[in-house]
Amino acid sequence: MKVSLDRDRCCSSGLCVSNAPEIFDQDDHDGLVRLRRTTFQPSEYPDLRLAAELCPCGAITVTEDTAPADGPAATGS
Ligand code: SF4
Repeated sequence: MKVSLDRDRCCSSGLCVSNAPEIFDQDDHDGLVRLRRTTFQPSEYPDLRLAAELCPCGAITVTEDTAPADGPAATGS
């Protein structure tokens, strides 16, 4: 899963930090959101999805990983 932040849209509500402080942080200077890290465990995916859903400014976008290919296509005989 990839997480993108649009700091131009962030209104510094702090909701994401309150709900997932191990993932999100706010800049000490301007209060805008930032990520503490860029890799996430599958167990954190629900928190990431919720953060994107609840952000009042639409500043968080989560992109699901694409499923791995199913291997080589079957060939006819
Ligand atoms: S919830 Fe949204 S608006 Fe609030 S700090 Fe996080 S990214 Fe910014």
